[in-house]
Amino acid sequence: MSSDTLWETAEKPPSADMESTVASLKQFASAGRGPWHHLPDSDWNDWRWQLKNRVTTLEQLERLLPSLTPAERAGAILARSKLAMAITPYFFNLIDPANPECPIRRQVIPRADETEVAPWEMADPCGEDSHSPVPGLVHRYPDRVLFLVTDRCAAYCRYCTRSRLVSNATGYDFHPDFDRQLAYIAAHPEIRDVLLSGGDPLLFTDEKLEYLLTRLRAIPHVEFVRIGTRIPVFLPQRITPELCAMLRQFHPLFISIHSNHPRELTTEVRAALALLADAGIPLGNQSVLLRHVNDDKAIMRAHVQKLLMCRVRPYYVYQCDLITGSAHLRTSVKTGLEIMQSLRGHTTGYAIPQFVIDAPGGGGKVPINPEYVLSHNHDRVVIRNFEGRVFEYPEAPDGTPIAEATGSRFVSHEAV
Ligand SMILES: *Cc1c(COP(=O)(O)O)cnc(C)c1O
Ligand code: SF4
Repeated sequence: MSSDTLWETAEKPPSADMESTVASLKQFASAGRGPWHHLPDSDWNDWRWQLKNRVTTLEQLERLLPSLTPAERAGAILARSKLAMAITPYFFNLIDPANPECPIRRQVIPRADETEVAPWEMADPCGEDSHSPVPGLVHRYPDRVLFLVTDRCAAYCRYCTRSRLVSNATGYDFHPDFDRQLAYIAAHPEIRDVLLSGGDPLLFTDEKLEYLLTRLRAIPHVEFVRIGTRIPVFLPQRITPELCAMLRQFHPLFISIHSNHPRELTTEVRAALALLADAGIPLGNQSVLLRHVNDDKAIMRAHVQKLLMCRVRPYYVYQCDLITGSAHLRTSVKTGLEIMQSLRGHTTGYAIPQFVIDAPGGGGKVPINPEYVLSHNHDRVVIRNFEGRVFEYPEAPDGTPIAEATGSRFVSHEAV
């Protein structure tokens, strides 16, 4: 299938015909070479070439994207002091040049809207800095830590919850000190789970990553290691057989990727994910619910089903954090709940992520679910299924149904 077909099908209005939208979004297509069609394969497939040739300036944008809007032009200038703009040529080719509201475009091309700051927005919405025992380590939950290894990413997401530090456009000057971070973990035997993130850990060379993983694995109480990365999506060329051979020495090692829209799952990304999965690395996905990107039932359903086809288990869907200047990308919690409700029962359970709000100020992830329990008292729970039908489940404190209640309690009621 050519990338032209991908553009056409993906831009159909989602409400027009849900089944055909889902079907078309579920096709895998290459991102194509676009303006870089003349390039030799050896350059295009080289992750270092992709990084060196990222789209970072207004001049490049104007040359490569004739449909650039005034709001985007202003955004590109603003980005220099807020959160850098950087887009790999590979990912840039997923942008639909004809559509200013293209879901790929909205994620990586800055807009003037980023200057609109609501009073409830924050530079550090999840209160990470205040939960940092040593710089670059966030110890919020009892048994696990978030270990920030770099402030660089392959490309920058306009809604990034860590935009205070990633890309260093605001002069945060993040300098991780691995010795101090590792010493803290070693001194806290309750830490059994370490999540490497940033920035993007897979930007490191294989050697540097191997060094860090080796030192982590030398700490006996670290049972479980995972890497949070958007590189398989922004820069699939980075996922090489050599990288996978190195990573597989450190099992159990999980990877959480970050994809938001089915069009991000190209043939290139599918191949990269297959290499990781074949290395025995369980894969999860974290999405952020974003306005005009994935705040739509058909798009979300196509996305989670396509993730399963790539052997990636949808893990979390985040309500967009209250990061400064992100209102134009935020959707209501109500929309998120409606999307979750449209998935449960209607598609494979493995395809259904947990919807969470990272509680503003540092409360951690809180699960947000559609209401399936209608009432719950000492002898019964009244529940609703995915079709809206109501059921009763009788129970006594020890779990056995109350004797006189059995029989009548199992009756199902009409849909509400
Ligand atoms: C998300 C997060 C984790 C990991 O949480 P899980 O629910 O185990 O995926 C750990 N620490 C911090 C600070 C986090 O934000
Ligand atoms: S890849 Fe992750 S850390 Fe980097 S800009 Fe995007 S959301 Fe932020």
